[in-house]
Amino acid sequence: MRQSLWREVWILAGLVGAGWVLGLLTGQRFLFTAVALLFYIVLQLRQLYRLHQWLLTDKRTEPPDATGPWGDVFNEVRKLVRGSERRADELVDALTRFQSAAAAMPDAVVILTEKETIEWANPPTAILLGIHFPRDAGMRVSNLLRDPDVSAYLKSGVYTEPLETDSPANPELSVSLQIVPFGAQRKLIIARDNTRIQRLEQMRRIFVANVSHELRTPVTVLGGYIETLRDIDDIKPEELKKHLGIMHEQAARMQRLVDDLLMLSRLETAAPRQKEEPVDVPALLAGLREQAEILSGDAAHRITLEAEPKLKLLGGRDELHSAFMNLIQNAVRYTPRGGVIGLRWYSDEEGAKFSVTDTGDGIAPEHVPHLTERFYRVDTARSRASGGTGLGLSIVKHVLLRHNAHLDIHSKLGHGSTFICVFPRSRIAQTTASQAKRA
Ligand code: ADP
Repeated sequence: MRQSLWREVWILAGLVGAGWVLGLLTGQRFLFTAVALLFYIVLQLRQLYRLHQWLLTDKRTEPPDATGPWGDVFNEVRKLVRGSERRADELVDALTRFQSAAAAMPDAVVILTEKETIEWANPPTAILLGIHFPRDAGMRVSNLLRDPDVSAYLKSGVYTEPLETDSPANPELSVSLQIVPFGAQRKLIIARDNTRIQRLEQMRRIFVANVSHELRTPVTVLGGYIETLRDIDDIKPEELKKHLGIMHEQAARMQRLVDDLLMLSRLETAAPRQKEEPVDVPALLAGLREQAEILSGDAAHRITLEAEPKLKLLGGRDELHSAFMNLIQNAVRYTPRGGVIGLRWYSDEEGAKFSVTDTGDGIAPEHVPHLTERFYRVDTARSRASGGTGLGLSIVKHVLLRHNAHLDIHSKLGHGSTFICVFPRSRIAQTTASQAKRA
């Protein structure tokens, strides 16, 4: 720069000198010197104009050619412009990266200005908060989130804990809403879909209440009898036997409940079986039929079994035993004396099927979708009186889930019911030629 400035000084001096000499020759020294200076000023103004034009138009193009100090000025300005352009590009890149990361988040994120108007929001805000960006950009958030709890939380200014509430956009969803203040008086609203956790929490509460309710009666009865026996000094043997009989019944009821609960918990927590064994279902069912006869006892049901003799199933024997026994037990429980209970094990194009058909009272259609829920009973008193825990069909459902199978229920009030376990064809154990010969 210094060099080019010196050159410029020389050019100016040369021009003034030339004007002066011409002036001496013509006797018009001041005129020619003034013309020379004017010429120099015009040259400078032209360069200034070109710089101005370049700055006004597209700065991404190369600056105009110039020599001397103007060339240096053009170059310096060009460097400054390029530098600020690069920084702006980097900023836009960073912003785009942040926005696409925030947009990809499953949580709803809203950025508020100091005036609590919406500056930016990601797509989940539409589902969780009913805020649609960019449509709602610039709107005051209090005008969009009008739920009293949410409004109070927004106004409170205390955001250490999140607010657990229903989604303002959809009451079926639960959200955990957290406000995070940042920068100068600005706020970030983060909302997380909490529906699953809330449902699980509700299920847990209902489950604990149900178990306590189921245990309360036998525990109270047992406690009562123990107190009575403790206070009586001379009790007749027959009376003692009667009391002990009732106590045993209640203890057995608690035992059944605990066994079923443990079975359910094992089914839910057990890892998938590594190796599936072929289970001889016809043999298993023959044994279950005999147990059903014993269970039926005085009720004298007619229990039939029809099974494809070579149809084996890949699965867990004990689990299948438990599921099938629960269905058979239910048929015995809910079929009046002398009724018919049919057990069938067969295959069709859908897969292998185990069905239990009874001539019991049947089930009204509105109950059918709920039967596999824990502790769901159509007639609680009858279930309890017959030794039911309300967990049998839940156990069946879980065992079938672990065998990629499902339960079909067909029932008509007054006409009996059919419960069918449907196993996929892939679960049918293929008997090898040598096995078939041995069989
Ligand atoms: P429970 O121990 O009460 O039998 P389950 O889960 O096995 O519990 O069955 C749930 C409810 O389904 C029963 O309480 C009963 O009302 C109904 N149910 C199950 N099987 C039958 C059936 N074969 N006939 C009529 N009702 C049935």
